[in-house]
Amino acid sequence: MLLSSLVRALFTRLIVLTIVGAMFTPGLVAATSARGLASLPSMTRYDAILPDFRDDIYAQTSDLLPVYDVSASFNIAGDGLSTITGTTRLSYVNFADAAQDEVHVRLYPNAPVYLEGGIVLDEVLISGEHIDPRYDLDDTLVSLPLFETLEPGGEVDLTIQFTSTLPFERNQSYGMFGFDQESGSFNFAHWQPLLTGWTPGIGWNTGPLDMRGDPVFSNAALFSVQLQAPSGLVFATTGVATSTVEMGATTIYTWESGPSRDFVMIANPNFLVAEGIVGETVVRSFYTAEHAAIADEVLEMTMASMEIFNELFGPYPYREFDLAEAYIGPRAAGIEFPGVVYISQNLYNIENPNLEFTIVHEVAHQWWYAMIGNNQYLHAFLDESLSNYASIVYYELRYGPDAADQAVDRFLKRSYFAALFGTEGDQIVNQPTASFPSDRSYGRIVYGKGALGMQAIRDEIGLDAFTRALADYAELHRFGVALPGDLLAAFERASNSDLSELWRHWFDAAEGEQDFVPSDLVEIT
Ligand SMILES: [Zn+2]
Repeated sequence: MLLSSLVRALFTRLIVLTIVGAMFTPGLVAATSARGLASLPSMTRYDAILPDFRDDIYAQTSDLLPVYDVSASFNIAGDGLSTITGTTRLSYVNFADAAQDEVHVRLYPNAPVYLEGGIVLDEVLISGEHIDPRYDLDDTLVSLPLFETLEPGGEVDLTIQFTSTLPFERNQSYGMFGFDQESGSFNFAHWQPLLTGWTPGIGWNTGPLDMRGDPVFSNAALFSVQLQAPSGLVFATTGVATSTVEMGATTIYTWESGPSRDFVMIANPNFLVAEGIVGETVVRSFYTAEHAAIADEVLEMTMASMEIFNELFGPYPYREFDLAEAYIGPRAAGIEFPGVVYISQNLYNIENPNLEFTIVHEVAHQWWYAMIGNNQYLHAFLDESLSNYASIVYYELRYGPDAADQAVDRFLKRSYFAALFGTEGDQIVNQPTASFPSDRSYGRIVYGKGALGMQAIRDEIGLDAFTRALADYAELHRFGVALPGDLLAAFERASNSDLSELWRHWFDAAEGEQDFVPSDLVEIT
């Protein structure tokens, strides 16, 4: 995500933010048997992956990823609240390293910020038998007791019937789940029951939802979604549509996600689409007629950033990537999801420097969060600081070092200095999102200072070793959940040096006054 407070400040002073998230690799470990040959997902589950990468990714992930089969119906209620009613059949392999007596499912729409919105479970079956779930944390967490202990590698089938209600409210939340009456935009983030996230060495995330950064922390899975919806909507989604059948007033879509942490959609009857190709990936930008004049530029920024990141971090292996103009709440500038990102309609002005920075930041999240996961509740900097600094590298390679320096001043230093020399003071970057003293402090430290920390490492080891380290880290943790030590280790391998002190200083300490003095702030204002 990129927070609006960071972007809004840009007009007066210029600052920015964002939000963004597993594998086997060190991240997905199921020891032994995992899924038996007979129940391996079919290759069609990987339709979203480019043919050149499909066999490798299938071999890497098919025996351990949860498989979601979702069949749902979207009902628009006129002036009332629209709903999605559906059934999820979930084939789950215990990919963790310990036996399980329960499976934990998140019901994100029940977060109090969604007010009149929510999600209810109408029925839950385990291996075909009814069970009574245990609800906790304002009904945002559901624990499903298993009939038998599930050993690592063991498999179980769950059936969950649900009804989600989209709220109108988008001021308290980031607006990623809800309906905007003015524009007719339906934002479908975390609209369905999702397994809670699991972190290597830490375990299942069953604590309170954290609505300060990206709320969804989840491991890679395979989603096959069939949605019946009123005809006339234009959808941007995770994955690819494998079938679209229009039957008068109703259209039935089938989408496949490939390995993905979530399945997210956005629909608007007024969307127009601009399309291009990067490598073999189809890149599409969804926008409204009001912004047609800058549609080509928006698509171009999206494609240019994907091309640069493909080169630096290893190829984006999916067939499609969608970027959508979104009517989200005032708190977010952009929000990343697997294969699709939302960019706030408020930024659609080519004179606004936040537009390009936000687009590039969200594209970078396709690596740092979507493919290479991390626990955003505990280590948000792994994806946010990295995506913000990757954006600086984009400016450097595309426009030159002066443009990169300007972007550092505008998007990193201004926000960090506001904290360092303001009332909040310096903070540790690598701490739980919920532990920061305020939303503002979280934004300034993780997006500003954290990205400057990445720059300090790059300055120490050089751009070549820095990007080789990131490509190596990406390869090793693709579809997994990486930890801070994994990133440090990648930088140290690539540079053959001990970076532990530099890492501690930037990410695990609050010693910023050793790096900057107040006159540095004056210089950039
Ligand atoms: Zn972000």
